[in-house]
Amino acid sequence: MEGPGILSASPATVSIAELLNPGSVAVIGATEDQTKFGGRLFRMLLKHRYAGAVYPINPRRAELFGLKTYPALRDAPTVPDMIVMAVPRASVVETITEAAGMGVRGAIIISSKFSDEGEEGARIEKGLVETARRGGMRLIGPNCLGVISPANRVVLCSSPALEPDTLPVSPIGFVSQSGALMATVFDRARDHGIGFTHCVSVGNQADLELCDFLEYLVEDARTAVLCCYVEGLKDVPRFLAVAERARTAGKPLLMVKAGRTEGGARAAFSHTASLAGSFAALAAVCRDRGITLMDDLDAMVLLAACMARYPGRTVRSATVITPSGGGGAIAADRLSEGGVPLTAFAPQTQAALAEFYSPGQGNNPIDLGGRLPGGEAMDIAHTTLGIAGADPAEDIIVSLITTAPMLAATTARMADADVDKPNLFVMAPGKAADAARQALVERGVPFADSLDEAVRAIRAWASTGPPGATPSRPAGLPAAPPRLAGQLDPAAVDALLRTYGLPTVGQALCATADEAMAAAKRIGFPVVLKAVAATLVHKSDAGGVAVDLQSEAALAGALDGMQRKLGPLDGFLVQQMVQAGAELILGVNRDPQFGPLLVVGAGGVLVELLHDVALSPVPVSAERARTMLGGLKVRAILDGARGRPPLDVEAVVDAIVRLGWLAHDCRGVLLELDINPLLVRPRGQGCVVVDARVLCAKEGAEE
Ligand code: ADP
Ligand code: MG
Repeated sequence: MEGPGILSASPATVSIAELLNPGSVAVIGATEDQTKFGGRLFRMLLKHRYAGAVYPINPRRAELFGLKTYPALRDAPTVPDMIVMAVPRASVVETITEAAGMGVRGAIIISSKFSDEGEEGARIEKGLVETARRGGMRLIGPNCLGVISPANRVVLCSSPALEPDTLPVSPIGFVSQSGALMATVFDRARDHGIGFTHCVSVGNQADLELCDFLEYLVEDARTAVLCCYVEGLKDVPRFLAVAERARTAGKPLLMVKAGRTEGGARAAFSHTASLAGSFAALAAVCRDRGITLMDDLDAMVLLAACMARYPGRTVRSATVITPSGGGGAIAADRLSEGGVPLTAFAPQTQAALAEFYSPGQGNNPIDLGGRLPGGEAMDIAHTTLGIAGADPAEDIIVSLITTAPMLAATTARMADADVDKPNLFVMAPGKAADAARQALVERGVPFADSLDEAVRAIRAWASTGPPGATPSRPAGLPAAPPRLAGQLDPAAVDALLRTYGLPTVGQALCATADEAMAAAKRIGFPVVLKAVAATLVHKSDAGGVAVDLQSEAALAGALDGMQRKLGPLDGFLVQQMVQAGAELILGVNRDPQFGPLLVVGAGGVLVELLHDVALSPVPVSAERARTMLGGLKVRAILDGARGRPPLDVEAVVDAIVRLGWLAHDCRGVLLELDINPLLVRPRGQGCVVVDARVLCAKEGAEE
């Protein structure tokens, strides 16, 4: 074992902090030619006044932009900390080999045609990493757009987004799997007065990957909010670990993930598997881990800016202030649909507003047009913000600006209002509002270009809550996970569920029709008869379920009919007939990346059509189980819609919690579990499983 103090040139000795702030940079293929990557990148580095030493490398030049130019890397006066290149693949290999041999600390490889192109490229890419590792050098890319680190005034990126002289810094870090999107986000953010500490495009992530940079951003004192654009996560456990560290550090982690529409492609044994697609799984895990999953980059940057300006806020309700009655109504609709209702003003807020507004006006959304005559419009807008902003129940103000006279002055007055709440502007007009936008940029006040963008940001903010309660294990659950393998037969399914305290219906598994008749007499009529055969997945579709059999004669008829229709069967299941108010599905699906996920939703034979489901990683707390149920459409039925009795929601919550622990305990072997339906009875009468399927890994395939 190595003792402390023995320093080797292992990759771990190069920190991300160093790579984002190198003391010297060699630009391989630097040129004055602005049609070339090497030309633009070199110029951007100089233009943004990089403080370190720059060594242009080009065998055909003696000088570039007044800087001495070197024929090869080895001719540079010192070994540079960092090299950056956008040269053909063969030259990349040569340069990396040379640089690693010299002791260069890091390299940014802009060039593409590596693992992004195919097997040959992937092989060469792997070789690059090995060469770099041997020399203790780290790689960013290949196939990336480099690094923009405004906090360090380091620009190693050729994008035209860097053409303006300003390099604004906000406490936001951004790591992107797409180079073009990184540059675009940077550019658009600057138009909104938003900057970054560091932006990194990670490209193929041959060596350094997304998580390396996120880990750094969590540690970086100048960064308060982390953003990332992800196409595929390389290392899910590491990502979840960095998310946990970000949460502990109080730094929000925002992510836009491409690939939303890719479905759960696996042929489904259960309904659950087809309901729990991989994106839905990611969304559930993100919610659980406090990661803000978003669907739009502009909205992500807007939210990051809001979170940076107003740290530690929770958003549940909003106030809309606008000169347009129509705009206010639309904003109210969109926000409520997104789960952020408008704040109901407290009496003192209403009373204060009544001084300035005609009777019936001055409610949320506030239409500035409804003010009483007299007084300067912009003063009243300013005062209104102060009054509304002081309402104790409200979490955020949306100032929706529409085309109106004196736009810039009014917007500025509204932005200057003294409110201790996030005041998010929506700048709906076109060019007419350019001066107004500028007024906001000057004040560092975040604004959206459309209501849609603002709603996306606010919804995402509202969905990011503090960590929920830690799930507690109900008494009486088994201490050791039960041994399971393959597809369980009905008796084994029943035993497993009962072991975890899940209520299952009284039933008997019978080999013959005579046995079924005897069992029915024991159980008591009415009964339900079900055909049993390993191949029979959707029994009712095939005519293998007969419910509410009131008598021996009815049962005899059903037995006869099923045998004739379905041919030879493995047996029959005779069940007690349960009268219920609702059918739910409860399931577990093991996601290849995220592990077991619990699914709860509207059940019965139409589950896939209804697609009314909520997902959660396991175990699940009772609090979380209630939230999951609360978000379902079927919730209305559970609550007792249209004069029906309210159903036993707490019994369902208990069943969810128990199933969560079952899934947690059996995570090594359990692949899919489907309870469909769980029949829910009126309040106080519980719920009961009447149909369940369980698929486990084969014996010996445990993980
Ligand atoms: P499958 O899903 O294979 O078609 P199920 O066992 O889920 O078969 O039964 C289909 C439907 O029959 C259920 O959705 C439910 O409406 C009804 N059902 C099944 N078992 C019972 C029972 N014990 N009591 C009342 N209704 C039942
Ligand atoms: Mg079923």
